[in-house]
Amino acid sequence: MEKSRESGFLFCNWCGTMLVLKSTKYAECPLCKTTRNAKEIINKEIAYTVTAEDIRRELGISLFGEKTQEEAELPKIKKACEKCEHPELVYTTRQTRSADEGQTTYYTCPNCAHRFTEG
Ligand SMILES: [Zn+2]
Ligand SMILES: [Zn+2]
Repeated sequence: MEKSRESGFLFCNWCGTMLVLKSTKYAECPLCKTTRNAKEIINKEIAYTVTAEDIRRELGISLFGEKTQEEAELPKIKKACEKCEHPELVYTTRQTRSADEGQTTYYTCPNCAHRFTEG
């Protein structure tokens, strides 16, 4: 492949081999392993090899409707379960309709799955 000034950024500075985009962060020469910042490339012609979705994935931006429902992410509180006395409960809070009543806290026991509210 012929090297040209216009697309020179696609090729290795040292050996002229076409760079392989390893991630959205950098491109690498498969021959001499020279790396090149992908930012300067993405803004130019090679953009078509990196889709917007790849970039989102790389940056860790989750798409709408892709929420993980892992229990590890739920807030926990040091409070004993009414039923089995498990010392730590998962909780969520919700504002009740009347502002005077404040918010209701919903507790879920991760041990026996007992649910109860407080508020
Ligand atoms: Zn090279
Ligand atoms: Zn329990």
